[in-house]
Amino acid sequence: MNILVYLEERNGRIRKPSLEAISAAHALGGTVHAAVIGAEANALVEQAKTLNVQTVFAASDARLAKYSSRATARALAEIAKQANAEVVLVGATGRGKDLAPRAAIRLEAGYVPDVTAFTNSNGDIVATHPVYAGKAQMSVRVTTPVKVFSTRPNLWKPSKDAAASTPAVQNVSVSFQDTDFSEHTTALTLSQGKLDVAEADIIVSGGRGMRGPEHWTLIENLAEAFGAATGASRAVVDAGWRPHAEQVGQTGKTVSPTLYVAIGISGAVQHLAGMSSSKTIVAINKDENAPIFSIADYGLVGDAFEVLPALTEEIKKLRSH
Ligand SMILES: Cc1cc2nc3c(=O)[nH]c(=O)nc-3n(C[C@H](O)[C@H](O)[C@H](O)COP(=O)(O)OP(=O)(O)OC[C@H]3O[C@@H](n4cnc5c(N)ncnc54)[C@H](O)[C@@H]3O)c2cc1C
Repeated sequence: MNILVYLEERNGRIRKPSLEAISAAHALGGTVHAAVIGAEANALVEQAKTLNVQTVFAASDARLAKYSSRATARALAEIAKQANAEVVLVGATGRGKDLAPRAAIRLEAGYVPDVTAFTNSNGDIVATHPVYAGKAQMSVRVTTPVKVFSTRPNLWKPSKDAAASTPAVQNVSVSFQDTDFSEHTTALTLSQGKLDVAEADIIVSGGRGMRGPEHWTLIENLAEAFGAATGASRAVVDAGWRPHAEQVGQTGKTVSPTLYVAIGISGAVQHLAGMSSSKTIVAINKDENAPIFSIADYGLVGDAFEVLPALTEEIKKLRSH
């Protein structure tokens, strides 16, 4: 079985969700190939050559300097055909969620988004993904000859293994049409140097209980002590206290960190939809009946303004040892 993994780039580097998708591909079993699509694919091809894949397929076109869904989907589908891929994996990032279904249509493939687990018995692949805002898990068997899946970030370890021999590089000439480039999607970028919640291993998130943006230093200090990214509830983003790039939940980002600390967040179902697959959840809330406690592994009933400075000091001490 040939499996093709799309390698997404940010600031010249292959993104972590793509490296995780390579691990997911190896766990599925089969021959794993990678697809690099961009204006200047060469630098990314060099990085891709260090990965545990058999072939790196590269499609370059100067017009891809800005991300275009249609053009990238066309390129990915054409590469999948050249690679004889039965399975195409894309990390379920913002771009991945946009790209994967478009590529699936071009390949007349069944598509399962945001996969959290696979089973494969002799090519019979069953993919599990959350539905109803994370309230239920659905197992889906795709019966089309080609299958496309997007894989939820942070659930597979990023692939670090190198191939036994250097992967072959195959340049693919894609039959782009001018209309492919008629629309571009520009990603909202985070401030320089900030960790992206979608990729972070530890997230410290604040909600309306923090009372205002002027108190966010408390969240940022704890995040810094942990080496974590900062997240936010939608109430906070709607109020303009934090940027949308930090929003966790149904209409924000889906995260699965090792540790998620929710502070002053009530735990509305739409928030839980984005973070309930976190490995360990810590909730700090002054209301002992807050719904967030029903999914928290550790709960602290208390006033965030008293708890946070003390907790930050303790974490700093622990991490300095
Ligand atoms: C279609 C739709 C999509 C949505 N998408 C999202 C989404 O993507 N993400 C999301 O988060 N929400 C989303 N929402 C909104 C969601 O329903 C909630 O309104 C929102 O999550 C509430 O945010 P919050 O928990 O910060 O605020 P609140 O619900 O107001 O909770 C504040 C919490 O802070 C606690 N608190 C107050 N003071 C303190 C203190 N001093 N110390 C400790 N705790 C304190 C309170 O006890 C309370 O539990 C969506 C809603 C809809 C309808």
